[in-house]
Amino acid sequence: MTSQSWRSLRIKKYQFSLRLFLFLNLTSSIFSMLSPVYHVAAITLPLVIITLGSAGLLLGHWTWREKKINIPVISILFGCLWAWHVAIKSPLMQQPNFNYLVIALLSVLFVGAIAFSNNIIAFTLHSFPVLVTCLWLGEGDQWVRMVYCFALPVIGISIQSVIQKRNDRFAQGLMGKLLEERQTLNDLSMLDPLTGLYNRRGLQNRLDTLFALDTGDHFVLLLDIDYFKAYNDHYGHMMGDQALIQVSAAVRNAVRSRDIVTRFGGEEFMVLLTSTTPDAALQAAERIRQRVYDLKIPHMFNQNVATNVTVSIGLAPLSDDDIEAALEQADKALYEAKHLGRNNILTSESLQPS
Ligand code: GH3
Ligand code: MG
Ligand code: MG
Repeated sequence: MTSQSWRSLRIKKYQFSLRLFLFLNLTSSIFSMLSPVYHVAAITLPLVIITLGSAGLLLGHWTWREKKINIPVISILFGCLWAWHVAIKSPLMQQPNFNYLVIALLSVLFVGAIAFSNNIIAFTLHSFPVLVTCLWLGEGDQWVRMVYCFALPVIGISIQSVIQKRNDRFAQGLMGKLLEERQTLNDLSMLDPLTGLYNRRGLQNRLDTLFALDTGDHFVLLLDIDYFKAYNDHYGHMMGDQALIQVSAAVRNAVRSRDIVTRFGGEEFMVLLTSTTPDAALQAAERIRQRVYDLKIPHMFNQNVATNVTVSIGLAPLSDDDIEAALEQADKALYEAKHLGRNNILTSESLQPS
């Protein structure tokens, strides 16, 4: 997502630079045609091409925004056209024409420096033909000045691009880190901190993907630790937490990885058995009950059920993706399982009178 917005930002910068370049060329060529400085009307062929070309490209670029115009090609093309124009116009000027040459070079450098303040290649391609032409027509005069005028922006733009690249790298690194942290926070907000199981938010997230992708029969298990209040009262809250962690791990290990295990409330868990059969679901419930029993966490106050921690389980099918209805049925079954003596499993169907 971010690499996309980064790319679109780069494309926007590229397009802006191109438009600015075309616009400056258009104004510069019109200005040159009107020629208010030298009063030598020199409407040359290259100047007409520059005017029409930049206006046409500007309009075209406005209309077909997606079409990518290659900046290096455009810049060398316009650079050559300007050089051609200078070569035609220079002999028409009053001799000596050094002032004209320096100003012509400066205006080309100026346009390049503004439009390509970050693009040394485009700047060089655009101004180099004019520099060579001016040096050639200048016949040795003003050479130092001309080379200096060219070298200064080249150095400036080079430094500027190095700084810009470092800034870009820094900004991208920062963005990557922020995204990573956002992802971690998002993941953490879906997990229960004590047991590492999904919380209700995580469950909802998994359900959304499940309903979008999976077909087949799903089953809901509601688990509740038996007489856990008594466990807490006698062994202490810390031990209670340890027992919860152990039970959670046992439940998680008793089912397949594609099943969704959630800490639903204090000492209640919900397991969604995905794409399975009623028999397999019942077997999974039995496996969970047995695994928790086999943990043999001592619980002397389990009101005659056992001398260790046990769970009761209610099982219900999930039909029509109606999780609320399935939970309600599973809750009824769980209530009944508790009522019938705990450490056992009841399916919602068996509640219905047959
Ligand atoms: P039942 O067999 O009917 O389920 O009896 P119970 O005592 O387990 O039922 P009840 O819902 O009355 O008690 C749940 C207890 O679970 C209350 C609380 O002490 C304990 N409990 C809930 N959340 C936590 C927790 O995060 N840590 C600890 N240590 N105990 C918790
Ligand atoms: Mg409870
Ligand atoms: Mg309980």
